[in-house]
Amino acid sequence: MVIVLKNDVTDAQINELVDWLQTFDVKTNLIRGLHSKVIGLVGDTTKIDLESVQAKDMVYEVKRVQEPYKQANRRFHPEDTVIEIENRKVGGGKFNVIAGPCSVESEKQIIETAIAVKKAGATMLRGGAYKPRTSPYSFQGLGKKGLEYLLKAKKETGLPIVTEIMSVSHLDQFEDIDVLQVGARNMQNFELLKELGKTDKPILLKRGLANTLEELLMSAEYIMSNGNMNVILCERGIRTFEPMTRNTLDISAIPLLKQKSHLPIIVDPSHATGMTSLIEPMSLCAVVSGADGLEIEVHPDPKNALSDGAQCLTPESFESVMERIKACVEFVGREMDKN
Ligand code: PEP
Ligand code: MN
Repeated sequence: MVIVLKNDVTDAQINELVDWLQTFDVKTNLIRGLHSKVIGLVGDTTKIDLESVQAKDMVYEVKRVQEPYKQANRRFHPEDTVIEIENRKVGGGKFNVIAGPCSVESEKQIIETAIAVKKAGATMLRGGAYKPRTSPYSFQGLGKKGLEYLLKAKKETGLPIVTEIMSVSHLDQFEDIDVLQVGARNMQNFELLKELGKTDKPILLKRGLANTLEELLMSAEYIMSNGNMNVILCERGIRTFEPMTRNTLDISAIPLLKQKSHLPIIVDPSHATGMTSLIEPMSLCAVVSGADGLEIEVHPDPKNALSDGAQCLTPESFESVMERIKACVEFVGREMDKN
């Protein structure tokens, strides 16, 4: 962190600031230039709040030279994090495909879909039991029953379950769930993130609708700084001015997050585009860009789906998209995980 001081700053003010900064266990170096005075900080500055420094009378400008996230930072953890989920490995070379409906609608629907996606090569099953819907009048998910049906589908197929948790108060219902998804709308629900940080469950953390990559990594940091290192990032598109797609898939986020962080990254082309026809091309882009996996919505009867019917594949189309994904995974010298 570099702090540029105001021109008229007095020595007493500098001392006052330095004393305060040293309470954070950092070293301070004062540089007296011809026209300005600058304090350089050496050490772990993650606990120093930028705005609090900026608010001091004697400060003209303050800049971070290091990222504010530490646990998620590749600088301090150069090797890729690999997360084990029921004999699958997310990160570190294996490729995983999480597939299933947007919402769990019935026992029959989720079991039928689970069998179909497993046959096509999916390595995990998704399905929302608690749904974050824009309208309170839309289908809200089957709740506890939905979780029960997901576990039945796991029993039937052996596929680990990925499903969204929306509230800390539901945490005890997710005991047997393999991966807890934090949806885009909850990416900055810090109380939820802190509680998930106290568990050892793998967390699939989706990027918020209008959040920067640094904000995504800071949300990962909330989970990790509470003790849970099992975080998988998910790029699911962000809001832009383009109305033709539901969101805009930020492909550059994939290699960039890989540079900045050691955490695995999954891409969700369904929510990123909102269009069935874009799932295949965006999936292939994600593979080539270095993603560790995909999350794709698949429904046995998209036209009558209770949510997100326009952005899901049928089991048949999923099978053919999977063939192309597998070929692409092989082409980039990687391997599909167990299914
Ligand atoms: C979902 O995966 O069903 C979902 C609601 O996704 P997102 O949080 O990315 O909108
Ligand atoms: Mn959905």
